[in-house]
Amino acid sequence: MHDAIESAPASMAASPRLLQELKETLQRLRLGGPFYVLLWALAGWASNLWALARGPFVIIGLCFILLTIARFRMRGLSEGSTEARVRGRLNAIWSLLLVNAAVWGGAAGWLLLVAPEESARTVAAVSSYAFATAFAHNFPMRLRHALLALCMIYLPTLAAFVVSGSRVELVVVSALYLLYVILALRRSHAEYLQRLGLEDDLRRQRDLFEQQSRRDGLTGLANRRRFSSAIEEGVAATRRHGDALVLMILDLDHFKAVNDSHGHVAGDACLCGFARQLQAAFNSPDDMVARIGGEEFAVLSRSTLVRGLQRADAFRADVLRTPHALDENQTLSLAVSIGVAVFDPAHHADADALYRDADAALYRAKALGRNRVCTPEDIIP
Ligand code: GH3
Ligand code: MG
Ligand code: MG
Repeated sequence: MHDAIESAPASMAASPRLLQELKETLQRLRLGGPFYVLLWALAGWASNLWALARGPFVIIGLCFILLTIARFRMRGLSEGSTEARVRGRLNAIWSLLLVNAAVWGGAAGWLLLVAPEESARTVAAVSSYAFATAFAHNFPMRLRHALLALCMIYLPTLAAFVVSGSRVELVVVSALYLLYVILALRRSHAEYLQRLGLEDDLRRQRDLFEQQSRRDGLTGLANRRRFSSAIEEGVAATRRHGDALVLMILDLDHFKAVNDSHGHVAGDACLCGFARQLQAAFNSPDDMVARIGGEEFAVLSRSTLVRGLQRADAFRADVLRTPHALDENQTLSLAVSIGVAVFDPAHHADADALYRDADAALYRAKALGRNRVCTPEDIIP
């Protein structure tokens, strides 16, 4: 019920940004696997590896199949997961991607060295260029990891061209293309960070608006809107679990006179001081404090009527004793009337009925002379 228990400790839960990185990395992880299997089969077929080196061809093919299965089996994590867990999952995904890149780089380099047919060499080389390009565009989340994977995919192909005495133009063009892919990766990474930053800003703004729509602008307490949903939730929980639920409505006595004699600004300062005092007095996780009107406040508390009445009366007395400083020489004492009602499922059809009873109790307190705590029926001694 207490507002503070609505948000989980931030140090424990993973940030939305990290969860988003996991989600996007995972989505792209699944995409690539089958292409490695397919292009390896194509390269093997073009170079007749089945006859030339069946063992290594099959083993490498099996590696790509296993890596594809591992990619599909990798799962996301729920929103409440801890930061350490999400980071661990991301590390596992990147390990898989790096192993995949290393296997492709090694396999393509080896094929370029052992396969005599030009078509097989072309398939292997073009596949390496394609995988490196796809990597630069799909995995810009971690620059260093992606650079390493890119080099592992690409450099063995380039090295094989050099070692097997390929034409200089081919080596130069391949090296230039590698440079282009690295630059493209750096740009994708910068754009990715920029997008995450914008989405972070949007999330922050949304949270701020959401918070503002539930807070009172003057005192910072929950506002009437937040209070209305809290009382509905409180009544529903009480019906389910049978806990006691007490509602107090507090109204400052003769507050108009404060404004009339000291001005609206002093009146506002008194309202803020009163709100702080109320929040301090009802600060347990079972309490919820709200400003529901001009100089009208409410406390919703999971407690019995007797306990609620005791606390309300102690607070009333405390308010009377506490002077509010208006300026250096002047102080002012406030008084408050409080109506208290306990939720009774046999008597109250809904939250509105409970509210009406607490309001009737407040009316009694005012009618009986103010500066007192009342229930709907009785005056509390
Ligand atoms: P009582 O409740 O004891 O019957 O008398 P009251 O004078 O408190 O009651 P009334 O409802 O007549 O007046 C409430 C006053 O509260 C009117 C208004 O001047 C003041 N008020 C309401 N909202 C604010 C606010 O946000 N700031 C200030 N400074 N005053 C406010
Ligand atoms: Mg009043
Ligand atoms: Mg009032």
